[in-house]
Amino acid sequence: MLVPLATPALEHLTPHELVTYFRCPYEMELGRGLHARTVGRAPPPVRTPLDVVPLRHSPMLAPPLGHLEVNEGCLDVSDGDCLVYEDEGEVDLPVLFPPDRVHKDPRFTNGHLNLIDPELGLSGRPDLVILRETGEFIPLEYKATHLFVGYHEAHGRLFDTVQVIAECRLVHATFGRRPSHGLVLYGDTAGAGERQGWVKIPYDDAEERWLRVVLGQIRADSVRAPVPAERNCGSCEPNAEGLCRYAAVRYEGPHHRQAFLASPRS
Ligand code: SF4
Repeated sequence: MLVPLATPALEHLTPHELVTYFRCPYEMELGRGLHARTVGRAPPPVRTPLDVVPLRHSPMLAPPLGHLEVNEGCLDVSDGDCLVYEDEGEVDLPVLFPPDRVHKDPRFTNGHLNLIDPELGLSGRPDLVILRETGEFIPLEYKATHLFVGYHEAHGRLFDTVQVIAECRLVHATFGRRPSHGLVLYGDTAGAGERQGWVKIPYDDAEERWLRVVLGQIRADSVRAPVPAERNCGSCEPNAEGLCRYAAVRYEGPHHRQAFLASPRS
């Protein structure tokens, strides 16, 4: 008699893990152990072999960047827009809406904050989800930094693009309608707000295809190699804990990467 084969459970991934893998797959592996310790669980086994050969770049395919829209200044929200989701675990999010235009989806209150996509095995929390007056649900990621000069250049803000594409998919899976784009708001208010800006990241067939490909790529990666580089290691949390013997530099704090990317050499 033939016994039906059980479908193996997908390795669970988050938008944040995609970003980490895009910098350094080994950081993603070690980071899972750190997170498990924080929530009192046993750390999962690290799959990176001891004789691993470090890489110069992450193997992850870069996201499509063709039609990003980069805007200087404040993000406009119209009178018909409202806020339907907010990551209550983030304390410094901007207030974009008056109280009468905040209508949070009750599914995501009282500590139930994760948006979940069972089909792709993805879950996570955008900073905000805005319901536009057009009926579209749009994820917004907030960064307290400034809009980078040379956004389209190689180092640009690819990490933010990776995160927002994954969050668009989560919004699609959760609210039942595919957003046409996601937003990153760079909210540095120094200098009377002249360094603020926001970027509109399209989410179409190409972006969704890319996301499906990289999720498969990460799950198929049985090595999760380190990518030692100043831009990565200086702000790597496992490095701060002394967990990585491949580190290219000492840990210099969470703001190291932004400073590195904003410097002339980027
Ligand atoms: S210290 Fe560098 S090489 Fe090691 S895990 Fe962190 S980013 Fe990767």
